[in-house]
Amino acid sequence: MRKTKLIAGVGLAAAALLALTACNSGTPGAAPSDEATGGGEETSSTPWEVATDVTIDGSPTFDAITERGMVKVGVKEDQPGLGYLDPTTGERTGFDVDVARWIAASLGYDEDKIEFQAIPSANREQAIVNGDIDYYVGTYSITDKRKEQISFAGPYFITGQGLLVAADNDDIKGPDDLAGKNVCSATGSTSIQRIKDEYPDATTTEFDTYSQCVEQLKSGQVDAVTTDEAILIGYAAQDPDNLKVVGDVFSEERYGVGIQKGDTAFVEFVNTMFTDGGDVWQQIFDNNLGAAGVEGTQPEVDPAD
Ligand code: GLU
Repeated sequence: MRKTKLIAGVGLAAAALLALTACNSGTPGAAPSDEATGGGEETSSTPWEVATDVTIDGSPTFDAITERGMVKVGVKEDQPGLGYLDPTTGERTGFDVDVARWIAASLGYDEDKIEFQAIPSANREQAIVNGDIDYYVGTYSITDKRKEQISFAGPYFITGQGLLVAADNDDIKGPDDLAGKNVCSATGSTSIQRIKDEYPDATTTEFDTYSQCVEQLKSGQVDAVTTDEAILIGYAAQDPDNLKVVGDVFSEERYGVGIQKGDTAFVEFVNTMFTDGGDVWQQIFDNNLGAAGVEGTQPEVDPAD
């Protein structure tokens, strides 16, 4: 197992400039000299180290990973800044994807031992229950309802529900303006559920993914897209001439890592990684979300989750 170098606080500004379009983790085996190569090359350093000789007693998830010799991770791949697969380069980028890589590295698995699976909001619990993936990192709000089926580590980030509208829309400034409007969100999300529960005068349109909603917004089929502001900021940043995020957030979304229900040893392992890894968290945040204008600080993990 090769080891990546921990390069704290080096090349941060350069990495930030590359965020959203470039991969900030790339291939392992980075050496500090890579920092000097420049020339538009993707930076190959990562702020985490690949651990060695890891054991987690009493974790079925870790046992399955060990037996398989690789990690299966559920992510999003259409959410720039959070979980994104570049269709031309094949690179995966984003805060959540880097959190997923950081967890794998802490377990002893480098990039080439990670299999990513894109799983939409509505299918997350089932994928974890089925054992299709070892863990899920993708704008996954910790909720009591979901905790009936799975466990969460975290929270590792907190955001809130917001609204994305056309840049020339002056009618919608908050959820109270949605009455009689058509608002789009993802099936199975807390976002669509909140509109149905609390803003019943809005018409809702659902798709598997938020990028489908954004396409509908751009073509004028819907009036707004609603989900977590951190997600919406990523879409607006990709197309600022046509899209804007409006108003204040109107919920609290605490992002957790989805884990097989009852695997407390694995949950504790990830929580300890978050608690001890403040510097790594900050670099991952700065490289991805911070560079896109998302604000946030690392929340304390809540063992009750
Ligand atoms: N964080 C919200 C949720 O978990 C919305 C984003 C998403 O669907 O991933 O439902």
